[in-house]
Amino acid sequence: AKDAGRNAIRFFNPAMQAAIDARIAMENALRQALVLGQFQLHYQPQVDATGWHTGAEALIRWSDPVRGMVPPDRFIPLAEETGLIIEIGQWVLDTACAQLAQWATDPARQNLQISVNVSARQFHQSDFVERVRRSLAASGANPARLMLELTESIVIDRVDEVIDRMEQLNVVGVKFSLDDFGTGYSSLSCLKRLPLDEVKIDRSFVRDLVDDSNDAAIVQAILAMSHSLGLRVVAEGVETLAQRDFLLTRGCETFQGYLFGKPAPIAQWAGSGHS
Ligand code: C2E
Ligand code: CA
Ligand code: CA
Ligand code: CA
Repeated sequence: AKDAGRNAIRFFNPAMQAAIDARIAMENALRQALVLGQFQLHYQPQVDATGWHTGAEALIRWSDPVRGMVPPDRFIPLAEETGLIIEIGQWVLDTACAQLAQWATDPARQNLQISVNVSARQFHQSDFVERVRRSLAASGANPARLMLELTESIVIDRVDEVIDRMEQLNVVGVKFSLDDFGTGYSSLSCLKRLPLDEVKIDRSFVRDLVDDSNDAAIVQAILAMSHSLGLRVVAEGVETLAQRDFLLTRGCETFQGYLFGKPAPIAQWAGSGHS
């Protein structure tokens, strides 16, 4: 048994070691990325029923000299595990607020809002509220133009604390959106308890809604429920006119997806007017 154990260790060791090394390398590279300024924010437009821009979601990109452009799904989970998300998230917030402050001086863009993704770990930092306030104050951004996107993973515990923080930020004008709505187990209790302004219908329901009667039924239920609670609804991942039209005729007021624009650096972003 002892020999078998030793063999097992010898057999798994190189692969495990390689995985650990890769992880450490990635963690170090992420740390460096902050110092070297290798992160970028791309902005994806959100549009209303007439196609008019109402704002944008800020989505982080990591431009690494070795790895190339790394999508967030490949580094945000590690950043969350290691706690680096705190600093990365702060950079995202500061950068988005600076962008808002810049738009405020442009009559064509001063009403646009920016949605910022906030990870659960970041939100649960004891000074999160203070950090958001400071970021707004330092940039001079109008808090009413900032929408923070939360996922329901945020309320796995300490719900009262979550509500309290949201209310503190509501007071200064910051709004909240529930991201990826419908994909978890507690979506409905989040809707009921949290002081939200907006719900984002997850892309997975939008994808097949034209052909799949179950998805269509779910989307209609989300719209009806959210509207009766006074919440604005954003449909994510809208790629076709058929999807847009389906959503539009059922009362969805805001749309986001490749049909209207892919996430892009601000310089390439149409920004105002119609998509
Ligand atoms: P998310 O918040 O659900 O963001 C929407 C994702 O859908 C984005 O992927 C966006 O590029 C993509 N998308 C938008 N429209 C379409 C479409 O029409 N079709 C398809 N197929 N995809 C579409 P992205 O940028 O790769 O981001 C992935 C996830 O990474 C985000 O999902 C979010 O959870 C996370 N993330 C991105 N930026 C940040 C950030 O600054 N902070 C944190 N904590 N998480 C972030
Ligand atoms: Ca989001
Ligand atoms: Ca989402
Ligand atoms: Ca998503």
